[in-house]
Amino acid sequence: MNVLISSCLLGQYCRYDGNIKEYAAMQTLLQARQIHLIPICPEQSGGLATPREPAECKNGRVITQSGIDVTAAYHRGAVEAVKLARLFHCSYAILKEKSPTCGSGNIYDGSFRHITVEGDGIAVQYLKKAGIAVIGESEMIRIEQLIAMS
Ligand code: SF4
Repeated sequence: MNVLISSCLLGQYCRYDGNIKEYAAMQTLLQARQIHLIPICPEQSGGLATPREPAECKNGRVITQSGIDVTAAYHRGAVEAVKLARLFHCSYAILKEKSPTCGSGNIYDGSFRHITVEGDGIAVQYLKKAGIAVIGESEMIRIEQLIAMS
């Protein structure tokens, strides 16, 4: 089974701050031989550089901390995520929580004060519309269910 995954969850150098981070929970996934992970960073695919200024969603737009509107790049990246998911016949995506791109269910509220509100990141909105189920990295029960059914 092919599963789309946020590149940063695999420790790739694509986070906005230019740092890499390890996610211990992802080891379970990496050991599941029947799951083939298809990494994507929609922000990079949309044309943004790493490192880049942090951005958050507000009123349907994506705005950086200094006030630059980067909405178009986020939409480009979301289109690329759907394209890749279709190319590899992915029905599921495991994506980084709270991100303005990859967050599902909860995202930062646009105040840059680490406050979250209900909502989906831009790529998640596109993926869900395309019928792809999105799982956050902390949802271990859903990840284990996915491994069991693969
Ligand atoms: S959360 Fe998504 S957009 Fe942000 S760095 Fe990770 S893969 Fe890229």
